[in-house]
Amino acid sequence: MTAQPNPDAGAAVKAADRAHVFHSWSAQELIDPLAVAGAEGSYFWDYEGRRYLDFTSGLVFTNVGYQHPKVVAAIQEQAGRMTTFAPAFAVEARSEAARLIAERTPGDLDKVFFTNGGADAVEHAVRMARLHTGRPKVLSAYRSYHGGTQQAVNLTGDPRRWASDSGTAGVVHFWAPFLYRSRFYAETEEQECARALEHLETTIAFEGPSTIAAIVLETIPGTAGIMPPPPGYLAGVRELCDTYGIVFVLDEVMAGFGRTGTWFAADLYDVVPDLMTFAKGVNSGYVPLGGVAISGAIAETFAKRPYPGGLTYSGHPLACAAAVATINAMAEEGIVENAARLGASVVGPALRELAERHPSVGEVRGVGMFWALELVRNRETREPLVPYNATGEAGAPMAAFAAAAKADGLWPFVNMNRTHVVPPCNVSEAELKEGLAALDSALSAADEFVDRP
Ligand code: PLP
Repeated sequence: MTAQPNPDAGAAVKAADRAHVFHSWSAQELIDPLAVAGAEGSYFWDYEGRRYLDFTSGLVFTNVGYQHPKVVAAIQEQAGRMTTFAPAFAVEARSEAARLIAERTPGDLDKVFFTNGGADAVEHAVRMARLHTGRPKVLSAYRSYHGGTQQAVNLTGDPRRWASDSGTAGVVHFWAPFLYRSRFYAETEEQECARALEHLETTIAFEGPSTIAAIVLETIPGTAGIMPPPPGYLAGVRELCDTYGIVFVLDEVMAGFGRTGTWFAADLYDVVPDLMTFAKGVNSGYVPLGGVAISGAIAETFAKRPYPGGLTYSGHPLACAAAVATINAMAEEGIVENAARLGASVVGPALRELAERHPSVGEVRGVGMFWALELVRNRETREPLVPYNATGEAGAPMAAFAAAAKADGLWPFVNMNRTHVVPPCNVSEAELKEGLAALDSALSAADEFVDRP
């Protein structure tokens, strides 16, 4: 499954990258991007002939793996027939993608506004909520990620927001549930759920309910640490939104399209938002695509009054053809069920077993193909293995963990003091076992940094 090694070609790719590509979220001279020669299924390889099992799904988007033949063929077929067309027309790939998505989204989320990715989906969801309610403010959670554009980065509850600007007016953050790091306030999931709902209602009261357009939440926060909410939390937020006339936006850009072993994470909690954002897994990231699924009531607001927003490439035919093929492949090949089954029978039990043997593992959380290991210096104090937002030397323990995994052929997802286990949803049991064995050795490297008595 790998091409012939070709180090000279790799060196040329790397040299041009270093000379001219400005990378996201990076100090340009402190990074060393791997030159990638190819990818297939759950693996990719470099020009030296080294192959890696991808436990990151890219940035958690290759839900059907790399180069899925049905998706590649659909893109080729669409390119041969109609590569592009303006958004104001009815186009087969776009109509069919919208129909397949609406068929799967919960409740009456039956209309789809297409965007180019996740951040602009969030931007448009917020705009729709403000226009629908006539209210200015939006509430979102600390420990969240909603994208890199102006509004989305300000809704984001992580350090990226601090650096970019001073914040947009009308965005208010609150503390959503996270028992592992909320233990001074709550000892059980039930108490944490009650704490978080009471805090949210107090925040709404002090901000003024009649000024709040929307509450934006990731159904299961992903980038910030894969933190499944306690039972009852999302239903409680739904109730608060209904009580105060607030639009409930669930951001499923990362958690949607099979990642959690259900079509949407919202299905796990039996909750129906008013707007739901998606991207990534909708077409496995083969061509940029995102969108907002819209409830009947909000669609009605814009039935006779124009929606003042749009994008040149909204519902791009190539991206939509990839979405149609991805969704059909997921349904035909039981990929959502695969994520649920192997998540419950292989990944969850294996990670819990690793946590018993490795003192660096503080907590295991997740569902489907969406798991996080929280790495700590000390299980008692729960001090993270590296400081929050660590750079340079301070980040050395996580760098040692990642280097050990890569030496064993596993490409791990590393964020702050966590590693996320997020392979493609159609990963096989044998691939999972191979990756989990490499993870076992890499955790031994992390254990070296644990406080010794
Ligand atoms: N929302 C969530 C929950 C995400 O995880 C992401 C990206 O990771 C985004 C929004 C932003 O998506 P994009 O990078 O496609 O703009």
